[in-house]
Parts: sequence; C-alpha cells; structure tokens
Amino acid sequence: MNAPFAPIAGQPLKLADDLALVLAPNPSPMTYLGTNTYVLGCAQLVIIDPGPADSTHLRALERVIAGRPVSHILLTHSHLDHSPLATALSSLTGALVYAYGDSTAGRSAIMAQLAREGLAGGGEGIDRDFKPDRYLQDGEVLTADCGQITAIHTPGHIGNHLSFMWRDAIFTGDHVMGWASSLVSPPDGDLTDFMVSCARLKTCEASVFYPSHGAPIADPKARLAWLVNHRLDREAQILSALSDRPTRIAEITATVYHDVTPGLRAAAARNVFAHLVDLYQKGKVTAHPVLSTTATFVKS
Ligand SMILES: [Zn+2]
Repeated sequence: MNAPFAPIAGQPLKLADDLALVLAPNPSPMTYLGTNTYVLGCAQLVIIDPGPADSTHLRALERVIAGRPVSHILLTHSHLDHSPLATALSSLTGALVYAYGDSTAGRSAIMAQLAREGLAGGGEGIDRDFKPDRYLQDGEVLTADCGQITAIHTPGHIGNHLSFMWRDAIFTGDHVMGWASSLVSPPDGDLTDFMVSCARLKTCEASVFYPSHGAPIADPKARLAWLVNHRLDREAQILSALSDRPTRIAEITATVYHDVTPGLRAAAARNVFAHLVDLYQKGKVTAHPVLSTTATFVKS
C-alpha cells in the first residue's frame, strides 16, 4: 500500500475487487486502530473476524453485506475484539461460524498443565463463551463462491488461532500484525508454538498478509523475519537480565521493557513470562519453587 493506512470505522476500504476491510470502532493500546473485519467475495460473501460485540459495527457490516448471501463466518481466534459479534452476524445472515475450537482448544501440554494448576495467570480478553458451529482442522479447505480458503493452524498468540490462505494472500489474525508484535500471554499464548507457527507461515507462498490489526503487509517474509528476530532479541535480553541470583518477572520486565508506556507494562510482563516458559522448556532457565508467575528464575 502506497497511501497511508487510514480506514474510517464502519466505512468499507476496498483492497481488491472482491475484498474489503471494515474497521471496527474499538481502537486501544492493544488493538491499534481497531479490529479489521474482512469481507470476501461479490455475489456471495465470506466474512473473517466479525469483531467485538458492538451494534454500530454490526450495522456497518449489514450495510456492506447489502442483502447478499453470506456462506461462511470465519474466526481467526476467540479474543473479545474478534469473535463476540459472530453470533449476531450469524443470526442476521444465517451463515455458520467456523473456527478451530473453543477458547481452550489447541493449548500446548505445558500451558494446559499451568492453567489446570492455576499457575499461569493471564486470560486477558478471552471470549470464554465462544463455540463455533463448525470446527476447522489444520489444512482443511473450504470452498466458497470467491474460491478455496485453507485453514492453517497457527497457535502461539492463542491455541485456537487459525490463519486463512486465499489465493496468494493469508489472513494472519493476531499472529502477524501490521503495527506491532503479538501479545503472547500464557496459558492461552505459547511462545514455543508461536515460533513454530512463524516457521510454518514462512513455508506458505503468500504475496500479502492481511492482519486483524493494522495495514496489509506487502512483504510477508520480511515481516516474519522481523517478528522472529524481535523474539530472539527479547530472549537474549531476558537471558542477560537474569543475573546469577534468582530473579522475578517484575525485575526482568523493568530491565527489558524499560521504555514501555505504563498502559502496556502488564502486557510486557506477560510476554516475559511467555519467554520464561519457553526457556524453561528448552532447559535454559530453572524456576523456583515451581514454574509460575510468582517464581524466581535462574539461568541454567
Ligand atoms: Zn487476539
């Protein structure tokens, strides 16, 4: 995109003849300008990520749909800024809601264990009531009027995260965003999975990524490389912040994220914990007395 990305909430931004973006009116430090809802097709439509429970956004989508049939409502994942409007949109259009699973689906073994034992904290922004009408598996292909859409399981931001490949484009949800790196907050987020999903997306031949927040990404491979390097840099910073004495998450966060605005400090601490779980899994740190948000961490 040559022009600056400046969609107006509720007004469709045409990205191609059969693709429009409709920005939801939910800007915030975590959502940037707001959630991008994508409308694919011409005669019959597919909608990706209806957005937050917001009647203004529902009316905007209704105007864009303009009475045309909707064949599928697809969800990249079940965070509150993506999935709650799916139910109302499904009632309005009669289309079924497709997703990987409920909000705990796709969790890694270590995250399921931390959650079970109440040791992970987290749970921010989860749509706990979310349940799809149809469960999509990794690699499943949907046939829509606008062509085939392939579901790619990309856990990491949350276990039930899917990306959707359509022609040479991938809708990357919150896994690869156009404005910032993704929040990875255990037990929903898993950094080990996140890195695997980045490697997976790298193998897909896409010429554009359409994220759920921010502008289209015209150079997907470069953006993925930036994202992976950003995480590797953070990992190195965290390992160097771990002195020889036992260190807590708050101390590491203050060192590594010293320049972060106060509104994002809690999210930064969650990212640090995600890294520490990943490093623990790799045997690079130990946690005392047990792996948890209140543990002290030591370099192995
Ligand atoms: Zn999200």
